Amino acid sequence: MLLSAVSSVLDAGNAMSEDQIHRDEHPFQGNRVLAGISPDNLQTLSAEMRPVLFHVGEILFEPGSESDTVYFPKSGIMSLVLTSNMGIDVEVGLVGAEGAIAVADALIGTPNATRSQVQIAGSGWRLPAALLREEFVRNPQLQSVLLRYQRRLSAMAAQNTLCNRLHSIEQRLAKWLLLAQDRVDSPELELTHEFLADMLGSRRSAVTLAAQSLRKTGIIDYRRGVVTILDRSRLEHVTCECYSALRVHSEEAS
Ligand SMILES: [Zn+2]
Repeated sequence: MLLSAVSSVLDAGNAMSEDQIHRDEHPFQGNRVLAGISPDNLQTLSAEMRPVLFHVGEILFEPGSESDTVYFPKSGIMSLVLTSNMGIDVEVGLVGAEGAIAVADALIGTPNATRSQVQIAGSGWRLPAALLREEFVRNPQLQSVLLRYQRRLSAMAAQNTLCNRLHSIEQRLAKWLLLAQDRVDSPELELTHEFLADMLGSRRSAVTLAAQSLRKTGIIDYRRGVVTILDRSRLEHVTCECYSALRVHSEEAS
């Protein structure tokens, strides 16, 4: 019964996503979750959307904090991070213009499960969680789009679990750089080794060795906190299978 209800919601979303005409005129074109919902079906929420800037290092949510706001980035990168009892951070998800921050917790009204931190500056929109919750109940297309996005986030977390267990630090570093470049659309990324170590859940010295190896072969360069991707196709060759799997998940959002 529940499965058939979810399936019919997803089917409704399919039919309407094929009908995403006038994309250029969409008021929230920059965010692919919002752009997947027709302007008519966003009318109630549009009036309450507020523009927001994301600053490097800014923490949007701590674990356990109240889910009172949902964010829809149109640029920049945010990490969803879990911290172990020993204080080691591990990134479990990466969100850019293809996604949204804190949707599931906002809809259910539960505290945030992860820390959401801005890694690369950008901008987007924010919306009170209570309004999203109210609209979700009566808007099938919104239900479909948000359910599909949550499914992609779950798939990303699962793929990252496999990656952390099976793949080398060099492969994971290459994956992170490629995923980041996909989201900022620039070969230059402002990142420190310390930051990368946190995101990859590895010691800083191990990340430094992996970065040195990629630099030695002319695939990347870095200085003063800026990593430059010099040869993207070779970086794609270095990384593991997870990059293409995660890229597929991101592309499904479009
Ligand atoms: Zn991997």
